[in-house]
Amino acid sequence: MSGRIIDGKAIAADVRKRVAQRAEALGRTGRPARLDAVLVGADQDSAARVYATNQARRCRDLGIDYHLHTLPSSAGYDDIAGRVLLLSSEPKVRAIMVHMPLPDGVDAYRVQSLIHVEKDVEGVNPANIGNIVYGRSSLAPCTALAVVRMIETTGLELRGKRVVCVGASDIVGKPIAVMLMRPEATVISCNKYTEGIVELARSADVLVSAAGVPGLVTKEWIKPGAVVIDVGINRLSDGAGGSHTVGDVAFEEVREIAGWISPVPGGVGPVTVAVLLENVLDACERVP
Ligand code: NAD
Repeated sequence: MSGRIIDGKAIAADVRKRVAQRAEALGRTGRPARLDAVLVGADQDSAARVYATNQARRCRDLGIDYHLHTLPSSAGYDDIAGRVLLLSSEPKVRAIMVHMPLPDGVDAYRVQSLIHVEKDVEGVNPANIGNIVYGRSSLAPCTALAVVRMIETTGLELRGKRVVCVGASDIVGKPIAVMLMRPEATVISCNKYTEGIVELARSADVLVSAAGVPGLVTKEWIKPGAVVIDVGINRLSDGAGGSHTVGDVAFEEVREIAGWISPVPGGVGPVTVAVLLENVLDACERVP
């Protein structure tokens, strides 16, 4: 029997519907929801520019004012930091994000540290990342939040279940592992040096892969009936000038064994984008 699909597009649409309702209610108070985004040195067709353009359209559709602050590619740390500090201290600004990547030599960690904690809608300020350990982060990292949401839709009670996270980066893998510890799951965090990873994975009730390695997770990694969440986003060339996106999971074969599985594309990606907008509403409703 094939596993059931965790439909990221449908979950994202549901999240956006609630965001639109909250944005409308906020608009009636005379303080409409607003997102300020910083974009540094992106050409018209760069991935970051395309993302910002799509974000602007989506925000407009949902009733969120979108302000894009662009800086030239020659901008250095001081220019970027200055803009982020200005936005952080501006009372009208209630939700801030900084598009990645930043120019070579500019430390993203230092820039993200300057985003006002209550306005940091990507949840990347070290204080917001740190607060997830306490379960008190008001604005949690969006990808981790998306993974939690997706698992919730399966109805699985996480307490006492075994979760294996493949990939342990600071912004993606580690926050996912920590957030899944909150409901008292038993979480095992793996990286590329983990020995016996296939056996560990096969013991998991929930397997989350955020390694960035196409086809890494095959059917041998899966316990029958497990929930499989694929965070990976990998571009594969088709050898004829085109390319397509795949996750870390060998979808077709894993689907035969898993109880639930999220696809790529159409899985964690759209939910992450939608959850960011939910964080925007959280920030705008809270910041006076
Ligand atoms: P990263 O390169 O910073 O970290 C990768 C992690 O995976 C490391 O901990 C590494 O040790 C581990 N790893 C690599 N190869 C492995 C292997 N063979 N076995 C076990 N572990 C292995 O990457 P990242 O920034 O954390 O991103 C990971 C993936 O998630 C990428 O494909 C990225 O595009 C994707 N991503 C998706 C979203 C989303 O919203 N869906 C958001 C951010 C990143």
